[in-house]
Order: sequence, then structure tokens, then C-alpha cells
Amino acid sequence: MQIKFNDKINQIIKNLALEAQRFGVKIYFVGGLVRDVLMGKTPLDIDILVEGNAIDFVKSLDFVEIKSIHKDFGTVKTEISGVNIDFASTRIEEYPKSGCLPHVTKIGCDIKDDLIRRDFTINAIAARILPSLDYEIIDIFNGCNDISKGVLKVLHKNSYIDDPTRILRGLDFKLRFNFNFSPEDEKLIQSYLKNPDREGLSKDRVILTLNKLFSSNERAMSAISEFSSCCYYKILFDEFLFNKENLENAIKLFDIKDIGRVCLKYILEAPPVEIKFKSRLEIYKYFKNFSDVDLCVYYLKTNDKNTLIYFNELKNVVLNIKGLDLLNLGFRQGKIIGDILDKVLEAKLIKSTNIVTFEDEINFVKETFKL
Ligand code: ATP
Repeated sequence: MQIKFNDKINQIIKNLALEAQRFGVKIYFVGGLVRDVLMGKTPLDIDILVEGNAIDFVKSLDFVEIKSIHKDFGTVKTEISGVNIDFASTRIEEYPKSGCLPHVTKIGCDIKDDLIRRDFTINAIAARILPSLDYEIIDIFNGCNDISKGVLKVLHKNSYIDDPTRILRGLDFKLRFNFNFSPEDEKLIQSYLKNPDREGLSKDRVILTLNKLFSSNERAMSAISEFSSCCYYKILFDEFLFNKENLENAIKLFDIKDIGRVCLKYILEAPPVEIKFKSRLEIYKYFKNFSDVDLCVYYLKTNDKNTLIYFNELKNVVLNIKGLDLLNLGFRQGKIIGDILDKVLEAKLIKSTNIVTFEDEINFVKETFKL
């Protein structure tokens, strides 16, 4: 395999390979980097896997600036000649409960044992880095073949039970690369979703994975549609009310650009308690700190048209006068100041109002309130 890095990075990689030989460890590229290169893409991040202890190896190098060390996982973040490079030790992981964060049981294991903890065959290909800058492919799960066929396959039948976020990672790869789950994987996923075990589930990990899934606005609509139609929501909850038409409509109504954020919030946020607003002032005050995304999600969850009134008619209303202006007019400090400001705001919130500027507001106060 060939990797098209620039000359500077090639030199760094070559030095690292020579140092690894001297230190007596093998180093590899693995996961997304190898997958992307095999798919003809240029790698962005450089992660190096050390078959052994990465921390000890990195500490032996005098041309590396160590940024941080994570001892429990055997990982090191570094900078080498201005390039950020992360190192990881090969490790064995176990899942004592379905969906929990894995426990690391060994740091510095054989490369094969590290590859088997990974999600899909396409992400479990290693490329050994040699000083000649040749890369020797280690593909024990036939990942290269699955890349060429566009198939997503886990490495063992308990994989989705161990970590159901792999279902969501799989959906992400499916949409990004136009791949498909293998028929066997479809069965394993549906079997997990029939009886999901959420007791030990790491919600943080699910949220992190959903964040990645919805990081692309182009794919967000397909992602949420499949999340609903394939029942992937069962990883988190029993029911998920979703209507694509309503979502598309709301996105138009609120002129949303960040579709991924709306989808994510729609999935993760509980329905709000519905409020019976008695005035435009109440609507204004309630939604004042809502972003357009928040408004859109609130509308989707409640169908409350007041969100549209706020978005279309009230959102841009601002009060120009301040309490100090009222004191300068001669009003006394106290509750009256807040009451008057509310009345001016309320008047401005009426559709046909002609109170716009600072002067309009002052005149309105003078006409309406006695000193
Ligand atoms: P990209 O960054 O392009 O989305 P990636 O595969 O590099 O793809 P990462 O989340 O950075 O994505 O993961 C790096 C590697 O770590 C993966 O290729 C895979 O081998 C492994 N990995 C990540 N998440 C899991 C998981 N939940 N279960 C098993 N292995 C995982």
C-alpha cells in the first residue's frame, strides 16, 4: 500500500519507523486512516498504533513533544515538527455489561488481539509502517474485500450487544460511503433491537456517537429517517414519534441551516410541558432565549403555533429605553420601572404598533404614564 503524505510527514514517519526498529516494537496505521487510504482518500489525522506500550516508546524519542498522556488507555498525544500525532498502545478490552464503556484488561498485546476489539472489518485493517515507507497490510478479517464490496460487517456475533453504538456508527458509514450492512449484520442488529439491554448502557457514548452521526447537515435527514424506520431508537428508548414531512416543513418554516442539530435535539430532548400563553408579552418572554433550532424543536414536539408567532413577528423586537431613561424622566426607583418597561414592550409587540425608535418609546411613556 502507498500513502500520499507530504515530504515533511513522510520524513517524520520514516524516523518513527527507524526508532521503532531500534526500540524493538512494531508500529502501524489502523482504523479510519487505512480504510480511507484504501478508498482513495487522503488521510487527515495521523494516529499510530504501537504493538507494545506506546507511552514507553514515545518517551524514548528525543524529537517528540509530549502534549498529554492517558495512562489507563496507554495513549499519548504528541507534536512532532509542528504535526499532531496520537499514539496508542495495542490493547485488549472487555464489556462486562452490554453497552457499558469497555474495561481495558491488557495494554501492549499482540496486534491481532487489538484488531478484534474494533467495530467493523473495514476498520480493522492494520498497515505496518516500515522505514522504507512501504506499508504491509494485515487484514485478518477480510476488510479489504468488504471495502471493495461496500459491506459493513462486525467481527463477532456479540459485537452489537457489547456496544450498540456500533449500530449508529454503522449507519454513519453506510450514509457516508453508500455501504450496506451485511445480511448477517442486519439480523444481528434486529435481534439486539428486539430485546435491548439498556441497564449498563453508557448514554454519554450514545450521545457522542449521535453527535457524529448528525454532524453532517446533508446526511441528517436520511440519518433520522433510518434511525426511525429501522428502530435504531430502541438503543435508547421504546418509542420514537417521527414524521419526515413535519420535520421538513418545520425546517422550512424556521429557515434552519443546521439540520443535524435539530435532528439531534429532536431525538434527545423530552417533550416540553405545554404552556397556555395569555399574551404576546408572555410568548416573547418565554421564547426570548430560544435559538432558531430550539424554536423549531419546540414546534415539532408541541405543534404550538406561538413559536411561529415569536419567530415571524416578535423575535426582532427590542426595547431601546432602559430603567435609567425612566429615572431621568422623573419616575421613582422601584417596581414601577419594571412595570412601565413591560408595558412599553407589550405595546411594541402588538402587530400594528408604530412605536419603533427610542423617541417613540419615550413619547409613549410620557403619554401613557403620569409622573
Ligand atoms: P472517521 O473518523 O472517518 O469517522 P474512524 O473509523 O477513524 O472514522 P473513530 O471514531 O476515530 O472513527 O475511530 C477510530 C477507530 O477506532 C475505528 O476505525 C475503529 O477501529 C475503532 N473504534 C471506534 N469506535 C469503536 C467502537 N465503538 N467499537 C469498536 N471499535 C471502535
